[in-house]
Amino acid sequence: MRQSELFSKTQKSAPKDETSMNAQLLIRAGFIHKEMAGVYSYLPLGLRVLRNIERIVREEMNALGAIEVFLSSLHPKENWQTTGRWKTMDDLYRLKDRGDREFALAGTHEEVIVPLLKKFVSSYKDLPLAVYQIQNKFRDELRAKSGLLRGREFLMKDLYSFHANKEDMLQYYERAKEAYRNIFFRVGLKAIETEASGGTFCDFSHEYQVATEAGEDEIIYCPGGDFAANVEVRKVKEGKQCDLGHGPLQKAKAIEVGNIFPLKDKFSKAFKLTFKDEKGKEHLVQMGCYGIGLGRLMGTIVEVHHDERGIIWPREVAPFLAHVISLPGGEKAAENAYEELQDAGIEVLFDDRQESPGVKLADADLLGMPFRVVSSEKTTSEDCFEVKKRDKGKAELLRKTDVASFLTKRT
Ligand code: ATP
Ligand code: MG
Repeated sequence: MRQSELFSKTQKSAPKDETSMNAQLLIRAGFIHKEMAGVYSYLPLGLRVLRNIERIVREEMNALGAIEVFLSSLHPKENWQTTGRWKTMDDLYRLKDRGDREFALAGTHEEVIVPLLKKFVSSYKDLPLAVYQIQNKFRDELRAKSGLLRGREFLMKDLYSFHANKEDMLQYYERAKEAYRNIFFRVGLKAIETEASGGTFCDFSHEYQVATEAGEDEIIYCPGGDFAANVEVRKVKEGKQCDLGHGPLQKAKAIEVGNIFPLKDKFSKAFKLTFKDEKGKEHLVQMGCYGIGLGRLMGTIVEVHHDERGIIWPREVAPFLAHVISLPGGEKAAENAYEELQDAGIEVLFDDRQESPGVKLADADLLGMPFRVVSSEKTTSEDCFEVKKRDKGKAELLRKTDVASFLTKRT
């Protein structure tokens, strides 16, 4: 993509009312646009990041054997009355149409997926079954001050699994944990699997927490990695020695990027989602549910991966792998590099703008592509390009013909 054709421009400063680092950097870099508190639009570069995260999540969900759907956002009030959450869910958006009929705007989808599956599940032969979607959720959040971390409209992957018995559900729950580990690893985050309460749903749940000062949650964890719990839940104390000898338990602020719940029969009971076993005996379906906030994930990546100059995108989620910068005297070679790297299958953002070298280099750091490839008079005279990794201080001169293989080498 040619940067000269990109309508989103970088800004020197972020809106004064944005206090979170993720929103400040993403707005300044032109990745997102704030519509109002907790509501953001994604601009071309931001959308590319979101799509990359979405692709990773989708691949891991499909590998888990889940089937994708796209459920409605407007929900009949009756479904929410059936579970009682029309009254009890504080952050539910309730709407009225012109005929005074009431609806819920989807904040989660148990109220729709469970009655939907009632139409298709009746026998043990229909189970197990896992269904997911990647779709916007709406919640009347009070504290929408953390940029993409807490939206009032936000993209979520929600997976629901349906089983004939608890053992099968818990086995799937373990496999879902593995998929979650893969997802967080691939997007470049170290997520700590954390024990948490099951809330009103179940005895326990697990959260995936990324330790950072920007987090709203607090966790206590073992530095050796064998235990972590949300402090809301457990009375574990910071400083207590880990049972396995890894030293004292530590406390950290953290962002919950995902969570998983063994729902058991909470919702199948409400909607009477049952199946008949081999002997024709009727049972309630056992369920699990598994969420990941994609926008929150993107915000978390920025909170964790940035420096004073801007964002540092992990490779798999970066909008482009390389940022080719054309400086005076290197214009022709830069054009060639843009074409040739793309021919080699590399995604390139090409800074072909009429801007000063200082502006271009500062913008490259702000935008945060993993590699910067500079073409200048000096590099052209030496038949080279200057290549720099965003997270490394030093640039190196590479022969033009070596650049593509250098960028695609996984280091
Ligand atoms: P929180 O405790 O942070 O409010 P939650 O327990 O309400 O989260 P769930 O309803 O289980 O979260 O949603 C699943 C995932 O969706 C969360 O783990 C998080 O990644 C994401 N998520 C939840 N609320 C928001 C929000 N307001 N904005 C962005 N992402 C969110
Ligand atoms: Mg919440």
